[in-house]
Amino acid sequence: MSSTTTQLIHHPYQPPNEFAAPQPGVFKASTVVFPNVAAMRTREWKDKSAYTYGLHGTPTTYTLEERLCTLEGGRYCVLLPSGLAAIANVALALLGTGDSMLLPDNVYGPNQALADGELARWGIHTQVYNPMDPADLAAKITERTRLVWVEAAGSVTLEFPDLPALVRICQARGVACALDNTWGAGLAFNPFDLLPGTSPALGVDISVHALTKYPSGGGDVLMGSAITRDPALHRKIQRTHMHLGLGVAGNEAELVLRSLPSMALRYRAHDAATRSLARWCIQRPEFAQVLHPSLSDAPGHAHWQALCGPADAAAGLFSVVLDARYTTAQVDAFCDALQLFKLGYSWGGPMSLVVPYDLARMRKPWPAHLAQGTLVRFAVGLEAVADLQADLAQALLQLAPSC
Ligand SMILES: *Cc1c(COP(=O)(O)O)cnc(C)c1O
Repeated sequence: MSSTTTQLIHHPYQPPNEFAAPQPGVFKASTVVFPNVAAMRTREWKDKSAYTYGLHGTPTTYTLEERLCTLEGGRYCVLLPSGLAAIANVALALLGTGDSMLLPDNVYGPNQALADGELARWGIHTQVYNPMDPADLAAKITERTRLVWVEAAGSVTLEFPDLPALVRICQARGVACALDNTWGAGLAFNPFDLLPGTSPALGVDISVHALTKYPSGGGDVLMGSAITRDPALHRKIQRTHMHLGLGVAGNEAELVLRSLPSMALRYRAHDAATRSLARWCIQRPEFAQVLHPSLSDAPGHAHWQALCGPADAAAGLFSVVLDARYTTAQVDAFCDALQLFKLGYSWGGPMSLVVPYDLARMRKPWPAHLAQGTLVRFAVGLEAVADLQADLAQALLQLAPSC
């Protein structure tokens, strides 16, 4: 069996007869016509053996779904117009009034906003657990719990949980476990086989991926996916997907298909540059803490080592906590002074990005493993590392006491 990298390049797509180009075609449609009424009545799209309507899939979107299953080690995939839509699709497929959901305390913010907004309004209860303490998850699962979200690493603060332990707890309690796999991207670890060599495989039930990030890689596409190995679970997600009218167009799918063959290479480049900059930041007195799972004192470093050590992968994000002596205005001035790191959300594209976060508002109480101060998150792009380091150095001059 060849590696994922190779499989993303050598794939089973079959071009039209006599047109032996390996690049998938772009198919676009709302209407698909049927040869007769009998075909119209019987044709089945849910198993992807045929086509009935553009929203239900085209050869281009089926190809992308197949390729993403290869990337993440799953069997069934639905595509959505954003990563957040994929998160919402999973929640709406699995939860109803009276049910409850558990989110990690370092969850991707908009997932929490969905829980506090629509889900709460529809009588779905959400509790937050500490992903660094599996016993806390076990204690908070009740007979009402239908869905547990996990992230590795967590958003913004990048703690790395004991993912196999969290998954085992969900399995033992019969609760669906969904991973937001945007950080690992299918390259850092296999979400459906967390402990390779063990049988049966230990894995999450659902892997959600913001394709907006590394699979796109261009900073120009919004897309998400929800992948499973379980046919019954997939049918639930697919049914909600259909009822909500979610789908993606051929041109967008093609942009992701075009980027997938270079994804592993880009991921490694983002990763290497990020580790280099994180190590440089450790030496700087302005930072009270540097957060990156590969650093030996990072929260959950041993769990990262166990899960991602074989691939030696750690994505392209790191955060710093600026020393508490700096005012918000000074930290803002530092961010404003950055030239190559642009102020902007998202990540996974060629350009480096920076966002200051108000962690005191996001995390109550303040996590004991974090230094006091203002948190700034960097998403490292594909620029030359020396240029990025020089950019950080010149912006840090903004923090020098003016005298
Ligand atoms: C960006 C992101 C999402 C959402 O993706 P969008 O396509 O921007 O909606 C979800 N989860 C994580 C961890 C992300 O970083």
